[in-house]
Amino acid sequence: MFEIVRSLPAPIDLSRRKYNTAPIVEALSEICFEKCYLCENDKVQEVEVEHFLPHSNHPTLKFVWENLFYSCKRCNRIKGDNYEYILNPCDVNHKVFRNILVIAPSRANDPVTVTNLCPTTDPNFDSAVRTVELLNRCFNDTSTPARKISRRELINQLLEELSLMLEIRGRLRSKRLTPFEEGQEIDRLKNMTSPQYPFSAFWRWQVLDDDILLSKMQNYINF
Ligand SMILES: [Zn+2]
Repeated sequence: MFEIVRSLPAPIDLSRRKYNTAPIVEALSEICFEKCYLCENDKVQEVEVEHFLPHSNHPTLKFVWENLFYSCKRCNRIKGDNYEYILNPCDVNHKVFRNILVIAPSRANDPVTVTNLCPTTDPNFDSAVRTVELLNRCFNDTSTPARKISRRELINQLLEELSLMLEIRGRLRSKRLTPFEEGQEIDRLKNMTSPQYPFSAFWRWQVLDDDILLSKMQNYINF
């Protein structure tokens, strides 16, 4: 997950008791960088307006701007009414990136690893547990034929980006790069770890857990 800044005001349609309109979807798309707020995929066929607290259980929050997020159909359907009070990407105290470690698999049929790093003493620990459970299903659930297909598409996107990250790593290890060329590779890493990039949490952890990447990036890490 990535931190989201709700930088736009509530669209006017919400005061007309509508949440599924073009201006609302566009505003959500802008604040979420056109990515699903749960899986971070930006290449999704169908996007949906996701209620952070489900409106079936919280009807007063159905048209509340702070309760709405941009989501892919797959993640929205998996979350449904099943998960409440997960970590909120708009709340900096929830540290949605630092509290959840995500690792991409190197093979399509292997699972994405999602690990809870939130300390048990942290007041958000229980929310982190629920978030890990949800993300595990968002990334790995293949319990229906449709979910098998949507999972395959999601993993294909993730693997494509992983191979880019490994290419950069390979070039940065080379002793033959000129300072200019090394600067170019570092710029690509900075781009991949910025919040607007698809699956940014994966690439941030990739850098933090890799001595080679970390040594090249240490002056630029702000996450
Ligand atoms: Zn998603």
